[in-house]
Amino acid sequence: MAKKYYDEDADLSLLQDRKVAVIGYGSQGHAHSLSLRDSGVDVRIGLAEGSKSKAKAEAEGLKVLTVAEAAKEADLIMILVPDQHQAKVFKESIEPHLEEGDALFFAHGFNIRYGYITAPEGVDVAMVAPKGPGHVVRREFEAGRGVPALIAVEKDASGKAKDLALAYAKGVGGTRAGVIETTFTEETETDLFGEQAVLCGGASHLVQAGFEVLTEAGYQPEVAYFEVLHELKLIVDLMVEGGIAKQRWSVSDTAEYGDYISGPRVIDARVKENMQAVLKDVQDGTFAKRFMDDQAAGGTEFKAIRAEQEKHPIEATGRELRKMFSWLQDTDDDYTEGTAA
Ligand code: NDP
Ligand code: MG
Ligand code: MG
Repeated sequence: MAKKYYDEDADLSLLQDRKVAVIGYGSQGHAHSLSLRDSGVDVRIGLAEGSKSKAKAEAEGLKVLTVAEAAKEADLIMILVPDQHQAKVFKESIEPHLEEGDALFFAHGFNIRYGYITAPEGVDVAMVAPKGPGHVVRREFEAGRGVPALIAVEKDASGKAKDLALAYAKGVGGTRAGVIETTFTEETETDLFGEQAVLCGGASHLVQAGFEVLTEAGYQPEVAYFEVLHELKLIVDLMVEGGIAKQRWSVSDTAEYGDYISGPRVIDARVKENMQAVLKDVQDGTFAKRFMDDQAAGGTEFKAIRAEQEKHPIEATGRELRKMFSWLQDTDDDYTEGTAA
């Protein structure tokens, strides 16, 4: 079993002795900076000129500077802008202000793992990655609880990098729930594999394929939607609460028997081989390069596939059907159905 670190293993004063810059005020950025501030840490936000987030951060009473100003003032810099923009922000506005003894923090290992960012000598490089979206990280902190987090040290120039990462994790509530140590490589590769093969890529395409099979066989799309998409949440909630075992315990015997008999026919040995091929592309950098090259070219491939996927008939069916569920409200303020940003 992996060792877990809790509040008593972390010394917040290490962080309270620092000047912290949180670069970006999005999902993770707002959660980290507000909770660090509430933990008595001297925090400032670094944002690009004309940033849309600036007003939100200032409304919370946070000090907002340009990225370069924030990086210059601070001796611990947490980079929380989207992964594909980090290298440019780092090169232009952070690297010139890094000094020996500074610490560079991340919430995901992508840019370090694939070499898009390399920190200068004498700078600690560490990760604190809460295992939840920012609004949950913040909500749990405010409720006096926390979201479990991973920490990792890539470069321990000061000899204190791990303690500093633990202190940061404490500042955002992570050690209340428990922190596990990993490496940049393990965190990055498992994160990408998980989202591609299972959570996002796997689940989305499994649902779409199920919907296609039913509708192509002549069943009503509305009924197909209920059976292959809507009920997925019930199943996933059970899995999260008590593992696959609880899910199998809760469903009918018919459903459980069908799981055992037909599950392996759908997810067969070939699917596992496909997953291994996906993992190989994650490990050797093929996926990272394709993503970053496309992003550098304006995300042409990304946007084309997104537009194509939004046209899948399951989306139109779902838009209509969800109106029947008065308690299902899409409350994300940045997201408009059909035009997801
Ligand atoms: P977001 O997309 O929410 O970050 C948006 C913020 O970054 C905004 O404040 C935006 O400013 C700012 N930003 C975007 N581009 C630039 C730029 N070029 N220069 C300066 N600021 C910029 O990011 P996330 O919080 O989702 O992700 C941040 C990091 O956390 C990533 O490494 C991610 O992998 C990791 N992570 C994310 C999780 C999540 O749940 N989202 C979970 C765990 C880790 P503006 O408003 O002006 O656009
Ligand atoms: Mg990810
Ligand atoms: Mg059923």
